[in-house]
Amino acid sequence: MTTVTVAGVEVDTRHFIGGQRVSSAETFADHSPIDGAHLADIARGGRNEVDAAVTAARAAFPGWAATTPAQRAEIMHRIADIVERRLEELAIVETTDNGALLRSHRRGVMPRVAHNFRFFADYLINDLHHEPFETRGHTNIVSWDPAGVTALITPWNAPLMLATWKIAPALASGDTVILKPAEWTPLTASIFADITVEAGLPAGVFNLVQGYGEEAGAALVAHSGISRISFTGSVPTAKLVARAAAENLTPCSFELGGKSPTIIFDDSDLDLAVTLATEQYDNAGQVCLAGTRLLVHETIAPQFKEAFAERVSRIKQGDPRDEATDMGPQIHPEHLERIDGFVQRARESGADIVFGGNRAGADNLYYQPTLIHPRTPSDEIVCEEVFGPVLTMQTFSSDEEAVHMANGTEFGLAAVVATGDRARAERVTKQLVAGTIWVNCFFVRDLRAPFGGSRKSGVGREGGTWSFDFYSDVKNTVFSPNGWKDGAAHG
Ligand code: NAD
Repeated sequence: MTTVTVAGVEVDTRHFIGGQRVSSAETFADHSPIDGAHLADIARGGRNEVDAAVTAARAAFPGWAATTPAQRAEIMHRIADIVERRLEELAIVETTDNGALLRSHRRGVMPRVAHNFRFFADYLINDLHHEPFETRGHTNIVSWDPAGVTALITPWNAPLMLATWKIAPALASGDTVILKPAEWTPLTASIFADITVEAGLPAGVFNLVQGYGEEAGAALVAHSGISRISFTGSVPTAKLVARAAAENLTPCSFELGGKSPTIIFDDSDLDLAVTLATEQYDNAGQVCLAGTRLLVHETIAPQFKEAFAERVSRIKQGDPRDEATDMGPQIHPEHLERIDGFVQRARESGADIVFGGNRAGADNLYYQPTLIHPRTPSDEIVCEEVFGPVLTMQTFSSDEEAVHMANGTEFGLAAVVATGDRARAERVTKQLVAGTIWVNCFFVRDLRAPFGGSRKSGVGREGGTWSFDFYSDVKNTVFSPNGWKDGAAHG
């Protein structure tokens, strides 16, 4: 079967290579985390499909690279138009495939998919420039040239949003693209391939290879025919990708995991602090940026904990397609096991499970929102990314101690700070190691801003000019004032 109907939407189960749908001899099964329903048997790509995709993307590259920014922007805006027209279909298929809230997909995630294309199209036209500068009368001109074929490897927690956050700047830069989405959430990427056709993107400019990470993903990142790798996923996989990329010296951008702090000072608005802490359970805790280590000033810890427990008790778990649901299931049985393993090991080691700490049902993928008082700062539950609805809470007694605890991790993706004191906010944020810091807010994202992680949370930054810097060959051309036939200095 080459197409399936998921939540009333037709989805092609094949790869998309050189403008054609392509089958594989083997398939892999895709299930819904909501009820375990079998959704599709998806083409299982490997080296052959990757080779074909690289050949197609390389063949399409000169033509796409030669288009003007205005031509690229026009097609990208058409993609955004179609995403907006098909928003409801994309939202319901994504929810069915990854279990995240339908209301978030409708109102936040899919609008952001469209915005990814509009933003980078407009940025290319209006903002991407560098003022020429002089060196002893010579003029330096900086330009961003298309780099070649970009390989994109993406995770399952926000599949289409995270893929298009990379596809859009790569296309805007004049690169051609091969996407290998996560095997637990292959569906919306396939709908996206149809959208590129309708938008008039030339064949071979966008290619999709479905399959397992160890097969299709590994073959793609090891390929000598690609010029960029942008990867979002876990640290262990990033190390494998980096090793494969090293063979060809392929430049990589890594957006990885985190164990970010949410620091709550004693001068913070308690109600706001409780809201910020509760938001760390968003998407059933499957958010890389989540501030999962609550660090609370000791003088307000008891009242914070009481108010927080009360607020969390109001979180409504259930079917993510229901508008009233606040928290859906975890993505996959394997992932649920992993989350529960962290919690049970913490329990066994003597940590205090303040609330939650168990599955929310015997035969489903729901997990209770959980809060843990660790025994020591070096406990596994404090140091390792759980990627589920599991927070830890520790107390501090001074700003210095808060900063020390916040930075006491091998990650550096984000930090959330709650304080009523602007001077304290400025002082503390300067000392925090993180790619993004939110003060008295969470998840406010502007695509002009740099996005990425410090330490093991990533390599490089994307967003605004940083995306173009990565997906392009940045070039400096120096014009001498001398040697011109017309005698006029260049400038
Ligand atoms: P993962 O590392 O297991 O998989 C990510 C992708 O890599 C998948 O498409 C997978 O198929 C592929 N892959 C696996 N092995 C591969 C290999 N050998 N070669 C090439 N590709 C391979 O991560 P996941 O479980 O899908 O996602 C969760 C992780 O992603 C968490 O650590 C989370 O924090 C992180 N994440 C980070 C960000 C960010 O922007 N920093 C955003 C979302 C998720």
